[in-house]
Amino acid sequence: MSSLIVPSDLLPADGRFGCGPSLIRRAQSDVLAALGTTVMGTSHRQPPVKHLVGKIRESLTALFGLPDGYEVALGNGGSTFFWDAATFGLIRDRSQHVDTGEFGAKFATAARRAPFLADPEVVSAPPGELALPQASPDVDAYAWAQNETSTGVLAPVRRVTEDALMLVDATSSAGGVSVDITQTDAYYFAPQKCFGSDGGLWFAVLSPAAVARIEELSDRWVPESLSLPAALENSRKNQTLNTPAIATLVLMAEQLDWLLESGGLRFAAARTAASAEVLYSWAEQSWYASPFVQQIEARSPVVGTIEIDGAIDAARVTAALRNNGVVDIEPYRKLGRNQIRVGMFPSVDPGDVAALTKCVDYVVEHLA
Ligand SMILES: *Cc1c(COP(=O)(O)O)cnc(C)c1O
Repeated sequence: MSSLIVPSDLLPADGRFGCGPSLIRRAQSDVLAALGTTVMGTSHRQPPVKHLVGKIRESLTALFGLPDGYEVALGNGGSTFFWDAATFGLIRDRSQHVDTGEFGAKFATAARRAPFLADPEVVSAPPGELALPQASPDVDAYAWAQNETSTGVLAPVRRVTEDALMLVDATSSAGGVSVDITQTDAYYFAPQKCFGSDGGLWFAVLSPAAVARIEELSDRWVPESLSLPAALENSRKNQTLNTPAIATLVLMAEQLDWLLESGGLRFAAARTAASAEVLYSWAEQSWYASPFVQQIEARSPVVGTIEIDGAIDAARVTAALRNNGVVDIEPYRKLGRNQIRVGMFPSVDPGDVAALTKCVDYVVEHLA
């Protein structure tokens, strides 16, 4: 389609800006290669892999500064499976969901379809806007996304009430945005975003109240693969119910080492904020680009959505960049807007975000 060549001195050192799977750092793939004949290809029920799971659980405990009684559970299936597991194992009777985009809406749908639950309450806002959970007497679990990946809206993480569970989808924010974990009961995520790993697993930081709820609901029938009691029992032994992707664990452990050695969550949050500053200030100064999220505090530091003037076809821009090795800045497919969306997870160098903006400018100028 387009044979436009972007001058190589404008290109970022790494052209991967996707929102998941996201950039995997070279050091991570190197560790994977190094373990290619030892940990890889060995039993997940034996010490080498159990040690790896244990190390990840400890590193997450350190990264989030978990208070006593909080614990890290994990299981197969990614965050999408956690919605189903939570529908069975964490919602007692009625949940409330914040729907500001694709991901918030999906959990709401899972709860609505469960025949053993009352219809959930849903608080919503149009794409690109923030909505907050609202205290309600009938609700025993509140659910919202810290970062709505489809729109780039960042939400505060604060308890709504003291007597219900706070289930926070941190799939794209955990490890890249600061959080006070005591404000949450289940802070759950998957490894393919800020942790620069691969998909297929879910992790959940569970509070004592969440663990108590899991025990309280343990008589409810649930398919074994979605059972939180089973996940918890296995996690405590540094295992998963069934075989996990060991490569995903290796990549995740390496990213956690890097984050902790670099200064932990404070480092990660400063780095994503630096990238976001570059992206949004470029957009604000550009004649053809502008931040999609109007409310400044709600602009995500990890997923930047940028509206492109109708005079320019954003799809042609992203296609031309793809031909030059700058990939995955297409907007969320179902949003259907003339946009680019930029993943700015901790692995992404803020200098590369600056390079990206120059590449976009170059393409827009030369596409004609
Ligand atoms: C990516 C994402 C998901 C889905 O994660 P999977 O591991 O693919 O199930 C859910 N919620 C948010 C906020 C996401 O960004």
